[in-house]
Parts: sequence; structure tokens; C-alpha cells
Amino acid sequence: MTLARQVARVTRTAFLVVAVAALINMAMLAYLNLHLDAEEVRATDAGRELRLAHLAMLDQETGLRAFLITGDAESLAPYLEGRNVVVQHLAAARDLLTDNDELLGLIDVQDERRRAWTSQWANRAVQVGGSISSSGVSPYKREFVTEGRLLFDDYRAAHDDVEVAANVLREDTEAERGRVVKGALALQVVLLCAGLLIVGRQLRSLRGAILEPVQGLLGTISELRDGNLSARSRPQGPAELRAVGDGLDELAEALGTERAGTERRAQQLREARREAEDANAAKSAFLATMSHEIRTPMNAVVGMTGLLLDSPLTDEQREFAETVRQSGDALLTIINDVLDFSKIESGQLELEHQAFVLRDCVESSLDLVAAQATAKGLDLVAQIDLEVPPVVEGDVTRLRQVLVNLLGNAVKFTEQGEILVSVTAESAGPDGRPVLSFAVRDSGIGIPADRMDRLFRSFSQVDSSTTRTHGGTGLGLAISLRLAEAMGGRLDVSSEVGTGSTFTLVAPFTPGHELEDRVRIAPAQLPGKRALIVDDNPTNRRILRAQLEAWGMSVDDDGLPLEALDRVRGADAAYDVAILDMHMPDMDGAELAVTLRALPGWEQIPLVLLTSLGDRITLAEVPDLVHLTKPVKAAALRAVVARALGSTEPEHRATERPERVGRLRILLAEDNAVNQKVAVLMLERLGQRPVVVSDGAEAVEALRNAAYDLVLMDVQMPVMDGLEATRRIRADLPADRQPRIVAMTANALVEDREASLAAGMDDHLAKPVRAEELADVLARVTTRASAAPPAAPALTPAPGGPAVDPAALDALTRHLGANGPGFRDTLVSAWRRESRHLLEQLDSGAASGDREAVGGVAHSLRSSSASLGALALAALCASVDDAVRADEPLDLMVTASLIHLEVARADEAFTDLG
Ligand code: ADP
Repeated sequence: MTLARQVARVTRTAFLVVAVAALINMAMLAYLNLHLDAEEVRATDAGRELRLAHLAMLDQETGLRAFLITGDAESLAPYLEGRNVVVQHLAAARDLLTDNDELLGLIDVQDERRRAWTSQWANRAVQVGGSISSSGVSPYKREFVTEGRLLFDDYRAAHDDVEVAANVLREDTEAERGRVVKGALALQVVLLCAGLLIVGRQLRSLRGAILEPVQGLLGTISELRDGNLSARSRPQGPAELRAVGDGLDELAEALGTERAGTERRAQQLREARREAEDANAAKSAFLATMSHEIRTPMNAVVGMTGLLLDSPLTDEQREFAETVRQSGDALLTIINDVLDFSKIESGQLELEHQAFVLRDCVESSLDLVAAQATAKGLDLVAQIDLEVPPVVEGDVTRLRQVLVNLLGNAVKFTEQGEILVSVTAESAGPDGRPVLSFAVRDSGIGIPADRMDRLFRSFSQVDSSTTRTHGGTGLGLAISLRLAEAMGGRLDVSSEVGTGSTFTLVAPFTPGHELEDRVRIAPAQLPGKRALIVDDNPTNRRILRAQLEAWGMSVDDDGLPLEALDRVRGADAAYDVAILDMHMPDMDGAELAVTLRALPGWEQIPLVLLTSLGDRITLAEVPDLVHLTKPVKAAALRAVVARALGSTEPEHRATERPERVGRLRILLAEDNAVNQKVAVLMLERLGQRPVVVSDGAEAVEALRNAAYDLVLMDVQMPVMDGLEATRRIRADLPADRQPRIVAMTANALVEDREASLAAGMDDHLAKPVRAEELADVLARVTTRASAAPPAAPALTPAPGGPAVDPAALDALTRHLGANGPGFRDTLVSAWRRESRHLLEQLDSGAASGDREAVGGVAHSLRSSSASLGALALAALCASVDDAVRADEPLDLMVTASLIHLEVARADEAFTDLG
């Protein structure tokens, strides 16, 4: 049965019960009104008529009695009236009680007795009444009266019966009314109870018919919700709920099918992803192989051209060799870009977190583009705000990469004017770290607004014709942007065609505390001194002024040499130093220097000439003229000005041939004959004589037979590769025979570097190997006493003499030409890092009374310091080292503080040397 029919049935039943109850009520009311009420009225009316008839009889009797007593005919009036009245009332009573035979019978009896009284006594009394009344008491009279009374008593008895019967009739009617009402009520109660019972049963069955199927449906829904799509409802109950169940089942069926489809698609996606990852891995492997394959011959090309350029060549040959070198460099840049980009794209980019001096990073970036900028006559200037933390933590290599890329573009797309790098501190980021902004502003061709969107797209150039003019892969900015984002920052650009562009890297950096930027410390000679700056470039003037003022100097500056001369002649101002730019209109810096020297009072004033790379100036013409190469590094400016104002540090001594530096025992493991040759030649230039082997197995064997300080290990070699050889060496050799092992590989990916380090290597050199990087590696080697080579600069100078002999550094870097200063900085930085580390060991050794540890530190410091010309320190360390070996008494704390002092002196001297 349907739900609708069941509900209708219950409603109908309830309605029926109510209707029957109403009908009963109506029937009862009708019966009471139409039948019982009429009956009752008739009984009451008949009773009244009977009473009136009886009263008339009483009146008759009273009238007759009066007549009998008085004999007065007038007394007969009630009797005479009563006779008719009685008859009328009795007739009326009879009419009302026509269907009540019993009462009619009784009335007949009463009437009969009335007539008997009337005929037998009343009529006689009327006739004899007059005579009786006048007679006295007589027996007749008494008898007559008694006779009348007896007849009347009969009548009265009959009347009483009638009245009783009339009362009974009335009471019967009332009793019936009560019975009818009670009966109707009882019927209704029964009906209601029966109705309630039926409706209750029907409701129960209705609830049973709905609840159970609904519970079933809810159960199915909850199973479906829990993910069991095979759950089905068991259709039952009314048709409507069965339809709902069927719908639910269909829905579950559809969902099941959908889920199966989704799972199939997910499986397909997983497979596709695995395939993509495999493809990506294959791509990475391919890139690594390509990188290796390209870098191996490039190593020969770049290395050999470097060596070729160091040999005597005709101008034409030099030009050819330089072209080869530049093309090699360009090709390497492209390979590096592509590798970098693919590394970033595949999410393999990992940033380092190390403290570095921000100024060094910015200035070394400028160095890398200085040559191109000078060739185009562009001014290259860096400005670092004083609020910028001098030392920060981060990935210095990646920061430099972004800056070099922005600077390279700026130089590439600028024909005249200047390029300014300004570093400013913005408000701190959400994590509280200072946010630094590195803006590279050029005065170049600019970028049209509608081409801006192409800028950061990979392999895209704003104007494809620039590729033909300037070259480039269109990857530089895409890589820079991703690096900026990896640092948690961004790369902004603003540009105006014809006016120039500004690219700004904005990123948060944690301030570092392990290092210090010595440039921020004013040398004792500078505060209070007066300086004159003459430079036509206002930005340069502003920056130089800010720098000198930061060291406590007072500064005058002029944009034109003639104005400067006027100023100098006009006021007999006593300047302590003058800084002159070489390239100025009307009169160049060298001429200005000559003119100034000729002025009275200017014979002794130190002059600093700012020159560009490649400027040829005959310094001999102007006495006491120091030159400083642009872009001016703050550290160099500080050293030069300090020396000019009284520092007693010796001048750089130029020597013709590179001198031999401390010789190390080096083992070169390299299978490629050309690369062997390149490395051997480079090492020989650095004063070394390596032993060469061709594979890992030979390297292991060679190390078993002899002690080496350094192993330069190619990674991919036949028989035994470099990683395996390293693992064997690390496992086989005792600790005191362990060499420093540096991977020399054409695999430039991060994983390759990690694999080398994991195998036990100390460092990693990517091919093509450059002379300066190789020299840096040598500088980091710590030799052992037994192997102490005949160090070229003997440990002669006694403590108290000059802290550093600049000849040693010159000897190491001179042959590198323009790259020399950069390389020298690299060497000194490496020395500083190592010394800091060794001093920590020294302090803990001295504090714990560990003579061996102190001796070990002295031994390590001795050779690295000697190589760089820190001879006083080397001599001190040698004596400590010897004393420890000879078991001589030694106050470790005093020794440690002496070494600290000497390291500080050498450090200062390196800074002053610039
Ligand atoms: P590329 O290696 O080709 O220079 P980049 O990604 O570094 O690739 O630069 C993309 C393009 O953006 C350049 O080809 C050039 O059109 C434009 N561009 C970049 N820097 C500058 C700039 N400083 N001035 C003008 N145009 C620039």
C-alpha cells in the first residue's frame, strides 16, 4: 500500500469516528426534541386540564354545600358554572391523552363517578336544597349529606388515581429523557474508544511502514558516506520510500563507476608522473653527461688559451688567443646558464647559509664586469648605505650571480653614462629580518613598456635583434628571478626607453656576526683630515665623499679640474689628500696631478688617481701619485688613503717572474691526456711539480707508497673512478698520512659535488679549472712537518719586522694580470677563514693544556702564512712547532696570545695592502 493511501486511511477512520459521534448526537437531540419533549408537554397539559376539571368539581361541591346550608339560589352559581367547565377540561384532557389508554380508562372512571355524583346527588340537592337548608338537623338531612359526601369521595378517589397516573406518565417521560441522554453518551464513548483504537492501530502500522524503511535508507546513506559504494538499500515499505531506495542505489552505482574511473585516472596519472620523473631524471643525467662532455674539451680550450696568453705572442696571435678565450668563456656562461636553469626548474636548487661581508660580494660583482664597462667607457659605481648590515648570512654565490647578471645586462645595454649599484635597507620583513634592496641602475637603451612582460620569460629577449648584437640566451633574468624568489625575495624592474633601466633585487637577509667589514672601521690616520675630490661624475663624487666622511674626514669636491684649480689657488686651503679621476673633460687626472704638484704647498700632498683597467699612465712623472683602479673598492680606498696619510706599510714590490711559493706534494689523478697537460702546466705556473697518475687504482697505489699533501682527483676515470679511489684512501691510510683530496671534475651539478663530499673529498673544482681557483685550492692545503717543502720565502724576518712581505702575494698573483687583485683577495679570504678556525682550536688547546693541539695549530698556520708572505707569523709558528716537537717547556696561554697578536697584525697588513 502506498504511503499516501495509508495516511488517507488513518484520516478517513478519524473522520468516520467524528462523523458517527456527530450523527448520534444529532439523533439524540432530534429524539429528545421531537418526541420526548412533545410527550412531556402533552402529559403536563393533560395534568393541568385534569387539575382544572378537579378544581371545577371542588367549586361545584362547595357551591352545592353552600346552597344546602344557606338555601340561597345564588350560592348555586359555582355549581352551575362548574358543570360545564368540568366537562370541557375533561374533554381537553382526553384529547391530549388519546394514545394513553390506561389514563383514558382512569379518566372515564373519574367522569363516570362525577356523573354519578351529579345525577345521584347534585341534581337532587339542587331540587331539595331549599327545603333542606331551612330544616333543622334531621336524619334525612344527615343521610343526604353523607350520601353526597360518599359519592364525592368516590369521585375524588377516581381523580386521585388519574392524577397519580398523570404524574407517573410525566416521570416516565423524564426518566426516558435521562436514559436517552445516557445511552447516547455511552454510545459516543464506545465509538470514540473504538475510533481511537482503530486510528492508533492504523498510525502504528503507518509508523512501522515508514520508520523501518527510512532507517534502512539512512543506514545505506551512512555506509555510502563512509566510502562503501557497494552498499545497497533493501527496497521495502511504501512505494514512495521504495522509489527513494531505488534512486539511492542508482546514485551509489553511478558513484562507484565514477570512483573506479577516478582511481583508474589517478593510477594513469601516477604512471604518467613516474614516467615524467624518469624522463626528468634522464634529462638530468643527460645534462650531466652533456655538461661533462662539453666541459672536458672546454677545460683544454680555456686552460690552454690561458697558458698561451701567458706566453710571448705577437699582437695578432694574442688577439686570436684572446678571442678563443672570450668565446670559451661565453660558451661556458651559456652552459652554466642552461645547467642552472634546468637545476632550478627541476627543483634542485639549494641555497647556502653562510655569513659573508656584503661589500665584498658587491665589489667582487663589479670586478667581474669592470673590464667590459671600462671598454665602453662606462662608470661603474657601488653605494652601500650605512644602515645596511655589513655582514649578512645567505648564499653569497647566488647573490653575486644575480648581481653579475644584472650588471652584465646593464653594461651590455648601455652605451654611455654610468651604472650604479646601490644597496639600501628597507623596513624589516614579517619575520623581523632586514629586507635589503640591491638596485642596479643604468643609463642605457631602456625597455619599452609593452615588452616588460617578456623580460623574465625564459629564452626570451625583449628585442630579438639584440641577440644578434649582444648575444645572450635570454635565461639570465629568468634565472635571477627564480634565485630572488628562492631567497624569499623578488626582482623588480622600472625602465624608460632612452633613459635607462633599474633592476632591483629585494630580499630578506639575516645579519651575520662571525665576520666584520673592516671598511666600516676608520683607520687612525683619517679622522679630521681634509680631502679634495675632483671627478666629473656626480654619483662618483657623492659616493667618494660619503665614504671619506664616514671615516671622519672633511671633504671638498669639484666636477671640473679647472674649478678645482681655482678653488685650490683661491683659498690657501691645506688639503691632506686629493683624489682625482683620470677621465675628465678638458684636462685629465694625470695632467691635473702634474698641475697641482707644481703649485706651492702641493709638493708633498698625496695624490690618488682613479684609473680604469687598461689605462697606461706614466706614474714616474708625478712623484707620490698613487693610483687606484676603478671601480673603487672601499677597502682599497681606505688602505690607499690611510697609507698616503702616514701609514708606514711598504710599497708593492713588482717582480718580473712569479716566484716559487711553498711547494706541496701534489698527486694529479686524471685520465685525459690533454687535461693532464693543462693541469700540470697550471700547477707548474703556481710553482708546483705534481706527480701524475691515470686512474683511481694508480692513485691509491701512489698514496700507499708516498705521502702527499694534495690529491687532485678526476671523478670519471677508467679502472677505478675518483669516488671509489677516495673511499679506499680514506679507509686505508692512517690519519697522519691523509691528504687533502679535491675533486676536479667536469660534472658541475650539485649532486656531483655532494657525491664527492660524501665519498670523503674535501673540496670540488669544476672544469674548466681556472688558475685562480686552483691557486685558492693550494692555499687551503695544510702541509705536514715531515713533508714541509722548502718554502720559497724563508722564515727569516724576526718578529717585530713587517707583518707581511707583499712580494709573496705579488708572486702568487702577478701572472694573472687583470685577475690578479681578485685572486689575491680570494687567497687572503681563504687564509682569514682558515686562521679564524685554527685560532679557535688554539684557544681550546691552550685552555685545556693540550700541547699537541697547540703544536698542530702552529704547524698548520706556519705553512699557510708563509705562502702568503706573513713571515713574522710563520716564524713564530715555526718556533712554537719546533718547541712542541722538541718537548721544550712552553707557556701555552702566552704562546696562544702571541699567535693571536701576530695573526691580527698580518690581517691588518693584508687589509692595508688592499
Ligand atoms: P640575455 O642573456 O639574453 O641578456 P636576460 O634574461 O638577461 O637574457 O635578458 C633578457 C632581455 O631583457 C635582454 O635580451 C634585453 O632585451 C632585456 N634587458 C635585460 N636587461 C636590460 C637592461 N639593463 N637594459 C635594457 N634591456 C635589458
